[in-house]
Amino acid sequence: MVYQASPTRYENMEYRRCGQSGLKLPVVSLGLWHNFGDNAHFENGRKLIRHAFDHGITHFDLANNYGPPPGSAEQHFGRILQEDLLPYRDELIISSKAGYTMWDGPYGDWGSKKYLVASLNQSLKRMGLEYVDIFYHHRPDPDTPLEETMAALDLIVRQGKALYVGLSNYPADRAKKAFEILKDLGTPCLIHQPKYSMFERWVEADLLDTLADNGVGSIAFSPLAGGVLTDRYLAGIPQDSRAASDSKFLTTDQLTEEKLEKVRKLNDIAQARGQKLSQMALAWVLRGDRVTSVLIGASKTSQIDDAVGMIANRQFSAEELASIESILV
Ligand code: NDP
Repeated sequence: MVYQASPTRYENMEYRRCGQSGLKLPVVSLGLWHNFGDNAHFENGRKLIRHAFDHGITHFDLANNYGPPPGSAEQHFGRILQEDLLPYRDELIISSKAGYTMWDGPYGDWGSKKYLVASLNQSLKRMGLEYVDIFYHHRPDPDTPLEETMAALDLIVRQGKALYVGLSNYPADRAKKAFEILKDLGTPCLIHQPKYSMFERWVEADLLDTLADNGVGSIAFSPLAGGVLTDRYLAGIPQDSRAASDSKFLTTDQLTEEKLEKVRKLNDIAQARGQKLSQMALAWVLRGDRVTSVLIGASKTSQIDDAVGMIANRQFSAEELASIESILV
């Protein structure tokens, strides 16, 4: 049956301006790093994308290497776009990235102009798109001059292949230099995509201030620590979970008793607030309004419901923040 987006899709989502740009992002965005490769069920992926869009999630985040194998998440997303979402293209913010190993030889990795331009061309072909809304440099390249990488991002925008550009995983000092170069080129950086959760707080040292000072937005990836900051692992390791899968990014040995003890205590605070731990963890990342959007992953539509449900209860009392802090230290 032809997909018709829900007429109520914009009723409960909140949209935040991304830095000092004209673009607004939903406070919850969906990433396709896991659950969209050749190893996943295509129809489940389609269900997740439809469900997300039906609930106001207008932003879908990809990268050249998402899969496995690399490229397959973009391919499957492209099919879902063609079959379901094409009538809604102008309601969507689609991002992709390049920066990690993508193909053999000296031109399939890191941050040269050669790699970034070729990779985006491949991503566009896989997704059947003329342009992406946001194109990121995925990680800093210690060897390529920053000027070249930023010139490549600027070129891509001038070629009409991306509307905005972003950086991911850049430390604050390098990000600041990159923002200055991009500004001089006339293509201001829209957004930074760092890892940020209750268990991963490096951005608080200086990155968030640097972003605010430069009018750049932010989207926090892995805000649930890959699922650890939820009730998923409180009663063992479910068969269908990321930790039980062959993903090397969340392994059972990371679920230490010490970590699970913190998760249990955080879960108690969430329950006292009348919400799930996953919801409190997302609300916590969004506290203080310095993060534009939380970028979640999902394997089930109920997880998307949880994330969207968070919006109704995302304020914290000073006491709650202090209790959370005492658990995290
Ligand atoms: P999360 O921390 O949100 O983890 C998502 C996983 O948590 C889900 O796949 C699911 O795992 C579990 N989960 C989600 N919601 C719930 C819930 N309500 N209850 C219980 N479990 C839940 O993010 P990811 O690590 O998946 O990363 C999100 C996105 O960030 C990626 O898709 C990608 O777009 C981006 N990213 C960017 C990187 C970069 O370098 N720029 C690096 C990594 C990610 P399960 O499978 O067990 O159900």
